[in-house]
Amino acid sequence: RKGSVIITGASSGLGLATAKALAESGKWHVVMACRDFLKAEKAARSVGMSRENYTVMHLDLASLDSVRQFVDNFKRSGRPLDVLVCNAAVYLPTAKEPTFTAEGFELSVGTNHLGHFLLSRILLEDMQKSDYPAKRLIIVGSITGNTNTLAGNVPPKAYLGDLRGLSAGLNGTNTSPMIDGGDFDGAKAYKDSKVCNMLTMQEFHRRYHEETGITFNSLYPGCIATTGLFREHIPLFRLLFPPFQKYITKGYVSEEEAGKRLAQVVSDPSLSKSGVYWSWNKDSASFENQLSQEASDVEKARKVWELSEKLVGLA
Ligand code: NDP
Repeated sequence: RKGSVIITGASSGLGLATAKALAESGKWHVVMACRDFLKAEKAARSVGMSRENYTVMHLDLASLDSVRQFVDNFKRSGRPLDVLVCNAAVYLPTAKEPTFTAEGFELSVGTNHLGHFLLSRILLEDMQKSDYPAKRLIIVGSITGNTNTLAGNVPPKAYLGDLRGLSAGLNGTNTSPMIDGGDFDGAKAYKDSKVCNMLTMQEFHRRYHEETGITFNSLYPGCIATTGLFREHIPLFRLLFPPFQKYITKGYVSEEEAGKRLAQVVSDPSLSKSGVYWSWNKDSASFENQLSQEASDVEKARKVWELSEKLVGLA
């Protein structure tokens, strides 16, 4: 049978390019888990995906109720779950004030980390039931959360500190909306959320790989300077960022190429090792990359996991 893969945020950018690559391979049925149903449907058609290869299902990661509703709908569809790709993200680099999810968590960490944390934790059970031989759970990471790289050293840097803001609920009322308890910074909140994504992937690997055989991976697909991720940035940035990445840093990658890379992490037999953060070199060959000290801190991963469980109501 065809593999069955859920991709969050498949209505644009990397998620859409990956959905297209997998649908075209003829080996996958893609469940596009998106907050804007119509946009996702139009996006799928605009890239020429044929009807039998995809299903759009509503998911708003900025609401834990919506996450639970999505899981119910998915279960009711009767489809098996072979691979889950946590791809959706928001990036709010120019926001002066924090905004919040339905439950009152700062929006970047609430969407990118906590929404996906709940989703992947509850769907793990469904994945365990699938008879697919190569089950995978993938959480998209980023170089920007890794302070062992040049890009990761552009301020404001990712830093989770002692997690005091996360433990207080990230709600920004009496407490800080930032994980480390500091003042709100939208760009930093995004980077922090990506560190949480990479820590979560490793914690999943430590807790569940041996028992379930599921492969847990993260990746940095390259700088896809043209996606909607930068939609909130100032116009001059949006104009100069793609050529800067193309000609100066040479880290630029097209949406199509990035989609092929993530599709490899979904289905390529040679990328089956668990607990890996994949990256690609300039010849587009994949390699196991090193994470920064903070993004590979075992103790921090455990604490982020436990605090997140409390916030999303799993503990
Ligand atoms: P896009 O903005 O193009 O795509 C983000 C997707 O997330 C969209 O489909 C968006 O939906 C969706 N989304 C946002 N909020 C929610 C929500 N509350 N519920 C459900 N879906 C939501 O960005 P990219 O394709 O660039 O980003 C995809 C991933 O790649 C992210 O994890 C990002 O961190 C990562 N990444 C991107 C890099 C880049 O250079 N662009 C580099 C490294 C990593 P909608 O279409 O409705 O807005």
